[in-house]
Amino acid sequence: MCFHSISAAVTRRRQAEMVGAIDIGGTKTIVALVQEDGTIVDSERFPTCRAHCEAHLDACCEALQRLLRGQGLDVRCLSGIGATVPGIVDEKGQMLVHCAYPDWNGKPIGHMLGGRMGGFPVLIENDVNACALAELRFGAGGLHDFLWVTVSTGVGGAVVSGGRLVRGSKGFAGELGHIKVEYGRPCVCPSCGGRGCLEAHGSGRALDRMFRLEMKRNSQLAALVEGQGLPADGRGCAALAQQGVPQAVACFRRLGSYLGRGLGAAVNVLNPQAVILGGGVADSFSLMYNFIMETFCSCVHPSLMPVQLLHTGLGYHAALLGAAALALKGK
Ligand SMILES: [Zn+2]
Repeated sequence: MCFHSISAAVTRRRQAEMVGAIDIGGTKTIVALVQEDGTIVDSERFPTCRAHCEAHLDACCEALQRLLRGQGLDVRCLSGIGATVPGIVDEKGQMLVHCAYPDWNGKPIGHMLGGRMGGFPVLIENDVNACALAELRFGAGGLHDFLWVTVSTGVGGAVVSGGRLVRGSKGFAGELGHIKVEYGRPCVCPSCGGRGCLEAHGSGRALDRMFRLEMKRNSQLAALVEGQGLPADGRGCAALAQQGVPQAVACFRRLGSYLGRGLGAAVNVLNPQAVILGGGVADSFSLMYNFIMETFCSCVHPSLMPVQLLHTGLGYHAALLGAAALALKGK
């Protein structure tokens, strides 16, 4: 075999195996080359420039080109490019129809990225929906009916039914952060402005608030946080709950109780096999599991049980792998 044909064979193999994945989050962006089995070959990470959409898309594409050059490849070697965005996307996977950042809102991000990659087609998807696609392709242990729930600063969700992502009429399906979970003393939801939403009571932001309130009430707890050099937020709360500090455990009990209520309501409607939790707060899964299950089991109709409550195995890269899954769609 001459050198040229060896090179062509290698290129063909790579064409079948590699995709470009761009995960544009609210604070950081990761650009990567990912193999069809979900292996991340190489990646770059940098802050998301929320104020300047065009400049940030330039940076994403420059990073992808650098990664390709690093592997001795060009864009034609890729079998697809997918990108996740922090907002609602149209069903064609091109337009960011709703985004909290004004300079990004209403822009055809898919076409804009594609134009910067020499006309290569790029599909985009909401970041939480993308996590569900990643579970479907790379994780989820063969599950085809499940609810993905991101518990981080806020609470977001995505629904997979019959192996397909459910989008709803406007692409908002699965936004379970706005299920009402508190009627007695409801807090204002920072996202929708309503009261008593799961996002207001069962999110990372809510955990921060609960923990700070406990610290205010209990000077010994505040001294413990300071003495151990812990942050006065949910991360500090998690560290102390791991040590069995009762006030910190109580915060997770309340958080878990609200999550169980919200997830239970969603499960009654959707009848999934499993609920999969991801996001920063879900890293404290073992601290919350029993508390979530307590209210979850009391909310869900017995005929729908058992429903597995799982922590994602995709870790920090769930959304990035979702971008890869998007690029591999139909392959
Ligand atoms: Zn809300």
